[in-house]
Amino acid sequence: MPRNNLSAQGFTRTEAGLPGAAAMTVHESVLDGIGNTPLVRLTRLAASLRPRIYAKLEFQNIGGSVKDRAALSMIRAAERDGLLGPGGTVVEGTSGNTGVGLSLVAAHLGYRAVVFAPAATAAEKIRLLRAYGAEVHLVADFVPRSHPDHLANRAARFAEATPGAWLAQQYDNPANPGAHVESTGPEIWRDTDGTVTHLVASVGTGGTITGTGRFLKQASGGSVQVVAADPDHSAYGGGDGAAKYVEGAGHAVHPDSAEDIWPQAFDTSLVDRYVRVSDKESILSARKAAREEGLLIGGTAGTALAAALRLAAELDESHTIVVIIPDSGRNYLSTYFDDGWLTSAGFLRPAAADGTAGSLL
Ligand code: PMP
Repeated sequence: MPRNNLSAQGFTRTEAGLPGAAAMTVHESVLDGIGNTPLVRLTRLAASLRPRIYAKLEFQNIGGSVKDRAALSMIRAAERDGLLGPGGTVVEGTSGNTGVGLSLVAAHLGYRAVVFAPAATAAEKIRLLRAYGAEVHLVADFVPRSHPDHLANRAARFAEATPGAWLAQQYDNPANPGAHVESTGPEIWRDTDGTVTHLVASVGTGGTITGTGRFLKQASGGSVQVVAADPDHSAYGGGDGAAKYVEGAGHAVHPDSAEDIWPQAFDTSLVDRYVRVSDKESILSARKAAREEGLLIGGTAGTALAAALRLAAELDESHTIVVIIPDSGRNYLSTYFDDGWLTSAGFLRPAAADGTAGSLL
């Protein structure tokens, strides 16, 4: 029984079923709202399965995703190394959650934040970065890594030309996986009382799976199995690297790229197994989690969940699976949860003229 179970700690629930004041948490600053996310047991989706499956809710980080941890860790490491100081500028090429994490930590600590994002980035995400005060520059979509307009190159040139600027480089920054060695891994070990047997996570930079996997393998004497949930086509799991739908995970390789650059943040030697998940299965899993479990999760969480459910079917009561939920479905209400988008993306058969509802293809 996990130690953070409320009743095990002697907390009583109110008549309405709420935890009651005894379980309140106080953070002394916004940055303390990063980390210490809960594990939630999946009791509906896993009802007919034998292992226990716990979802680690990374959308409970204060900026809404797992990347808050990496952002804080990278900024703190840069300060320690003398690369970032008062009046400094945080720079990164990213459209996603890392930009949000860096922007919120920069805002809190008084740094300027400059984000280079692909032109196709959803308007809502750009607004979100700007809401935290970040400056956003839009750059060409999906160009080869060697092209001067690739967002990593644009961000690097800007950082070089700007006094006091520091480039986060999440793909190669050891403080990215380091965040998870220091926090995500220990939290899972503590909260499962060391009973975790499998970690399932999707892989973007590889920071989450590398840091968390490294800690859990060390803590368990090597017995925890690390399972990478990888989108179809992703080059991580041996796919062709063709561009994909599910945002935030997998490894796409531009066909004109002379060389394939793998992130240093991803230590592939830690991965025991890749489970390949199609975009459709990822989206279906995310939608099922919302409708059947009451848990609104994003597309890469859907990828990881689909892999965890497939894995669980092979295991028994002696196993405990922890699946990482990188962000919330709230970020994808106009995509994976929107029937119009799904239809135009080819995932949903349109509703028939007689009013018969559309169905997922
Ligand atoms: N899911 C989402 C939605 C993300 O934004 C990311 C980060 N790119 C990941 C999963 C993967 O996390 P990591 O970079 O730590 O591998």
